[in-house]
Amino acid sequence: MSLKTTYGPGRFALSFELFPPKTSDGETALFAHLVQLVKFAPAFITCTYGAGGSSRDKTLAVVAEVKRRFQVPVASHLTCVGSSVDHLREYLTQATHGGVDYVVALRGDPPKGETEFQPADGGLRYANELVALLRAEFPHFGVAVGGYPEKHVEAPSFEADLENLRRKVDAGADAVLTQLFYDNQDFFRFRERCQQAGIRVPIVPGILPVTNFAQVQRLSSMCHARLPRGLVESLEARQDPVSQFQVGVDYAIRQVGELIRQDVPGLHFFLLNKSQAASCVLAEVDLPPRTPPG
Ligand SMILES: Cc1cc2nc3c(=O)[nH]c(=O)nc-3n(C[C@H](O)[C@H](O)[C@H](O)COP(=O)(O)OP(=O)(O)OC[C@H]3O[C@@H](n4cnc5c(N)ncnc54)[C@H](O)[C@@H]3O)c2cc1C
Repeated sequence: MSLKTTYGPGRFALSFELFPPKTSDGETALFAHLVQLVKFAPAFITCTYGAGGSSRDKTLAVVAEVKRRFQVPVASHLTCVGSSVDHLREYLTQATHGGVDYVVALRGDPPKGETEFQPADGGLRYANELVALLRAEFPHFGVAVGGYPEKHVEAPSFEADLENLRRKVDAGADAVLTQLFYDNQDFFRFRERCQQAGIRVPIVPGILPVTNFAQVQRLSSMCHARLPRGLVESLEARQDPVSQFQVGVDYAIRQVGELIRQDVPGLHFFLLNKSQAASCVLAEVDLPPRTPPG
């Protein structure tokens, strides 16, 4: 099934995002968590691509194993960081042979210690160029791109960021997976702006339930996602991990419930390789009938 039809009219697609585990124990645990989550019938599962391509082989190995065990379509994330176009082609050829269905096409962040993104020699500058490469030379892949309800940190304005998103869609992206956010109003404004800018592909909200306040503070500051004051106060009022987990899950249930009532085409869960929070949320919300996988 193409990525376009995954999000077609009357359909609702769940996707789960993993990262490549660093150890074999981490890998065993990851697959045990996924067993809990495939019950919710995800339309596809994605795996991130490490900074500078550090995890490239691992990304492909993880998605191949996910597909083998669960017969679910898989997506590899891919960034332009540190890769020439020839390296990107090589990766995409390997991904083709490895049975990857979709690519999440990204520019990537500057490597650690650098403040500004610099394309590699013979490499690409922006994600729209990667989308164009995919469409020209690897047209069998469905292509998703990143979108930023709170604006990408480097963009001078929402308008400039939206122009960029439009370039990615014009280059051939099938869907937009958003950065995590906690205030649905940010998402609804973003979706409205996309509509006004003539961006017609599905815009899929990215969800990271808070399970551990310190961790989410770190991640949301990395991703420049605002934590609403009410959520922060509720978390600060509860110091023990069990209560914090419950606060985060209750918040995500309300957040996701509202998104579903407002007709989002699907949900993209950042799992951080764990199933508990996503499972608790998905068990409690009224999910529309899911797009069948494959
Ligand atoms: C769903 C999702 C998954 C992600 N997965 C990964 C991952 O696996 N690995 C990883 O390293 N990172 C990942 N990221 C993070 C991402 O790589 C960073 O947010 C990165 O800083 C931007 O990537 P992008 O593809 O959005 O870049 P781009 O779309 O290229 O945009 C980057 C910046 O350049 C600006 N811009 C774009 N085109 C132009 C132009 N022509 N002229 C001027 N300005 C322009 C944009 O407005 C933006 O500010 C993910 C992000 C999301 C939302």
